[in-house]
Amino acid sequence: MNEASRLSQISTSLIRRMFEIVEKAKREGKEVINLSIGEPDFRTDDEIIERACAAMRDGFTHYTSNFGIPELRQAIAERYGVDDRNVMVTAGASEALLNASLAFIDERSKVIIPSPNFLSYFVYAKMCKAKIVQIRTHENGFVVDPDKLNEVMDREVSMIFLNYPNNPTGVIADEKTLKAVVEIARDYDAIVISDEIYDQIYYDRKPISLAGYENVVVVNGFSKSLAMTGWRIGFVIAGEDLLDSMLKVHQVNGVCAPAFAQKAVAEVLADGTADRIAKKMVDEFRRRRDFVYSKLKELFEVVKPEGAFYIFPRIEGNCMEFVEKLLLEKGVALTPGTPFGEGNESYVRISYATSMENLKVAMERIEEFAHGD
Ligand code: PMP
Repeated sequence: MNEASRLSQISTSLIRRMFEIVEKAKREGKEVINLSIGEPDFRTDDEIIERACAAMRDGFTHYTSNFGIPELRQAIAERYGVDDRNVMVTAGASEALLNASLAFIDERSKVIIPSPNFLSYFVYAKMCKAKIVQIRTHENGFVVDPDKLNEVMDREVSMIFLNYPNNPTGVIADEKTLKAVVEIARDYDAIVISDEIYDQIYYDRKPISLAGYENVVVVNGFSKSLAMTGWRIGFVIAGEDLLDSMLKVHQVNGVCAPAFAQKAVAEVLADGTADRIAKKMVDEFRRRRDFVYSKLKELFEVVKPEGAFYIFPRIEGNCMEFVEKLLLEKGVALTPGTPFGEGNESYVRISYATSMENLKVAMERIEEFAHGD
């Protein structure tokens, strides 16, 4: 096949492998509890669905401005204390990440990705033919260490990816660290992508947003905070010059997010319904986080997550073997650590975006498995 060279380093083998193992477990009659899910298990709230239906009837079925409908840009701008000219609505956060990558990562430039991190960043960097430089964060509670960043920085760095609350660890970074990263990046003319998609899902302290810094592109969306993964509403907050560059990609990529979905989200953001919806979900996630953490810390070395809905324990041995055996022997599906970057060979990601009932059974099975029963 004549696949373009920009895709040659990108592999889909792990996704296929995981699919095969799940299928095998099902064929063997295992009732599988899936803790590898990357989206809230909640339905989109009826309030949002009703408003979207009404918006469709009102004619929100066409293209919108590439930047998004004014009401939504305004509502987002108010939430983050920025001007609405600095907001661009996209078809999900994923589209925003690709737009930013194509806009700011030069071929052969360096892209810094703290490990562990959301696996798509590696794909974007590879697609742009960049050199990936990973900084391990395992010794620092999974938070990037500005000193380590300083050691690898040079003028070839085009971009640094940050994601707090983090997928796969659930950790949040403090303001001092984040500001230090932004300053280091500025000294070398690099752009920071701050992926804040989980910013509404936190349990103790509120995550810091990097919206408003001139060398930062904030990527966010409503997939997670409003349980709307299938609706494809994301957004970017950045300086107008940076948005202009991203518009060059967005105008031919996402073009605009679905009009009726934009309208529904704008309404629930403006009248406070969005906060109520998120709070209800986060209260349930907090209960699950507390339960899962209390069980796992008896079995593994594990950092307590402060946000998102993932936890990243360190297991004995190789993660791939662990995940395969756990699935085939006990019917519990987890995600191995390796796709999240270097140094994650003995970690697994557990998503607690499933019912408490499922989590109770899954934790019992993991406990038996860890004890060799
Ligand atoms: N960033 C992170 C860290 C994510 O975990 C995800 C979803 N798995 C995304 C971005 C993509 O979100 P969206 O559905 O809005 O494209």
